[in-house]
Order: sequence, then structure tokens, then C-alpha cells
Amino acid sequence: MAKGTFRFYEELNDYLPEHRKKVDFEAGINGKKSIKDIIEECGVPATEVDLVLINGKSVDFNYIFQDGDRVSVYPVFESLNIQNVTQLRRFPLRRIQFIADIHLKDIVKPMRMLGFDIDFNGSYTTQDIIGKSIQEKRIILTKRKELLKSKSITHGMLIRSGSTVEQIKCVIDYLDINDRIKPFSRCLRCNDQLEHRQTKQIMDRISPGTKSIFEKYLLCKSCGKQDWRKNTCQLKVDIICL
Ligand SMILES: [Zn+2]
Repeated sequence: MAKGTFRFYEELNDYLPEHRKKVDFEAGINGKKSIKDIIEECGVPATEVDLVLINGKSVDFNYIFQDGDRVSVYPVFESLNIQNVTQLRRFPLRRIQFIADIHLKDIVKPMRMLGFDIDFNGSYTTQDIIGKSIQEKRIILTKRKELLKSKSITHGMLIRSGSTVEQIKCVIDYLDINDRIKPFSRCLRCNDQLEHRQTKQIMDRISPGTKSIFEKYLLCKSCGKQDWRKNTCQLKVDIICL
């Protein structure tokens, strides 16, 4: 019998027994089966499913389950119910990405450090934030309830006061995105993704002193600046913005 690890997200948990809701669970699969058949055997209607990831990669319903697969199943609708300002609209949960308003600037760099795509610019107007949220399908993170009352917003979360850590934990816990954390994969400055480099590949960009401290480097090709010292972390990894 083949075995795999399964996780169902958001509303799909409504179809699962209590012990399988919002947790990873193992299941044994007999014979050759498509992922669609397996999902329906779990009690979840395929019509409710928008996206299936196998070991992190998107597959269609005809994919044949393999021993050891990790299966993540996402719903057609993503609903965010936060303190009576729920915004529920049709768009598939394919990528989780955010835009934060000025009052939440303190969470931006830590969120990027965790690898989350979070747009922020202190000069964005409310209309800029709403526009980018709609155009780029970003979840608005804000402390302003009024902002989320705009009819045109599709996804938003109201973040209450608290420490930066508490606010970030609130987002991660509510959206159940703990497994999407990828530390040091995103530039703290410009939000673009980082690329790994060995010391020898960027010898001309780093000082002898830095070389003696760090062994691995992460490069951002987008922001065009060299200000890597500010982004130094404690894991023998440095971030360089070219
Ligand atoms: Zn950058």
C-alpha cells in the first residue's frame, strides 16, 4: 500500500472528520488512483477544489498518486473572516501575497525575512493600495477597518494592535500558511526573490572582512543597491542587493 501526507485548506476542512481538519495526516492508498479519486474518497467534492499541489508542484486531477507524495489541496474560494469585515470573492488561492498599509510598516521586513511576498511603500495612497490589491491579487493587511469596507476590495485582513510578532503570527495562523515560510528567500528591501551565491561567485563585491565571516550569500538583482550590511543576519548568510 502506498502512503502519503495530505493537507486540506480553508473551507475544504468542512468536509473532513475532526481529526483531519487543518492538520497534516497520513493516508494509505490502495492500487493506482488519480488524485481526483483520492480527494473524493476523503469526502471532499472535486468541484470545490481549485488547486492541488504534489510535493509543492501544481498537478491536474489526472495525476496518479505516488508513494510518499505530499498532497496539498486548496479550495475554489478563499474566505477571510476577520472581525466582521469579511471580504469573500471569487479568485483562486494560487499564491499568497500581501500589501501592507503605512500603519503596518513594522511587519514588512520580518514578513519578507520569512519569505512572504508583501508589498509596501510609505507613499502609497489608499487608492494605490486598493488598486494594487485588485490588480495583483494581494491581500490587504491594515489596521483601518474603513479601508476594508471598500466594495472593490476582494481580500483583506484587519490587524489589531499588538507586537510585531503577534501581528505576524495572527496572519500566519489565520491563513494557515506556516508551511509556506521560506526564511531568507526574499529581499528585505525590495521584496523580490533572492538567489543563492557562493563566495567565489561574487568575490569582487565583498570585502575581505566580510569574506572571513560569511560563507554563503543571497543576491537580489532587482533593487540596484549595495547595502548588504544592514541586512546581515546571524546564520552565516548575508543579503546583497546588487
Ligand atoms: Zn532587492
